[in-house]
Amino acid sequence: MLIVMQKDATPEQIDRINEEIKKLGLTPVAIPGSERIAIGIIGNDGPLDPELFFGLDGVKDAIPVSKPYKLVSREVKPENTVIQIGDVTIGGSDFTVIAGPCAVESLEQCLTIARAVKKAGARLFRGGAFKPRTSPYSFQGLEDKGLDILDQVRKETGLLIVTEAIDHDVLAVVEKVADVIQIGARNMQNFSLLKRAGKSSKPILLKRGMSATIEELLMAAEYIMAEGNHQIILCERGVRTFADHSRNTLDLSAIPAVKILSHLPIIVDPSHAAGKRDQVIPLSRGAAAVGAHGLIVEVHHDPKHALSDGPQSLYPEQFEELMRSIKILSSLAR
Ligand code: PEP
Ligand code: MN
Repeated sequence: MLIVMQKDATPEQIDRINEEIKKLGLTPVAIPGSERIAIGIIGNDGPLDPELFFGLDGVKDAIPVSKPYKLVSREVKPENTVIQIGDVTIGGSDFTVIAGPCAVESLEQCLTIARAVKKAGARLFRGGAFKPRTSPYSFQGLEDKGLDILDQVRKETGLLIVTEAIDHDVLAVVEKVADVIQIGARNMQNFSLLKRAGKSSKPILLKRGMSATIEELLMAAEYIMAEGNHQIILCERGVRTFADHSRNTLDLSAIPAVKILSHLPIIVDPSHAAGKRDQVIPLSRGAAAVGAHGLIVEVHHDPKHALSDGPQSLYPEQFEELMRSIKILSSLAR
């Protein structure tokens, strides 16, 4: 249920509605917006009767929300969510690119890549210090040392840092360094981690699980938002199909679908979708053309010796080519 207040509703009238909602054992959530004052109601299992609120002072409308996810839905908040971190914007009419290696390997490796991607136009640097690897024998990340390196990269280059939190304990240390905390595909339905992310003051980059529906992705985002963190960036990174010419199948139709259902920004990860370097630029062009709000791309200056995901990492020159080629496409899709 969404309560829309009259434009001139007083703070007392708003407080009264919040109290009425709490009396029902439910939780009121202020929905930010420039056009109207609105209060979302969460905590109810089934539909609520709008009559409960009609007639109360200051109430203009009480609208049932038809979807199981509420706070992330466009029904509740028609305006796009735009995330502002310093002078970097994610969402709205901007096309924002995050780039960097799969894993943090050394300060020298990160600085070499960070300088190259910044020169080409990336605004944020990605790199995992804690890696969720399929095999327990694969490189697991430099952990705390990796976070120190990322901090150094920000200081030296001014790029904002995106890095993954793989569990509760890691989230607590990652949030001290990261400008954006990534929750990876494997953790998209780790509900306790999502709730913890919802208590963070940092924006969350939530990647779609490899076999998650759009509804499941939006429900995962709802877990984060219901805890109070409204800064969420969704990410399509390919889903598992029968196809074996790529690591995953990039679901480009997810972009327009999500943009209809939710106000949250959605970006595309062509690297984990493709698994192969030669597909990354074409898929990025596709993402820009269908209206994604940006990309997260793996780049490595020496991919043959990369400790993780070398075969899908672009060379810095290829990343430059990608940035040139998406410029026109991303402006056309706005
Ligand atoms: C990553 O971005 O490094 C990663 C592991 O991605 P995903 O969770 O999409 O597999
Ligand atoms: Mn990777």
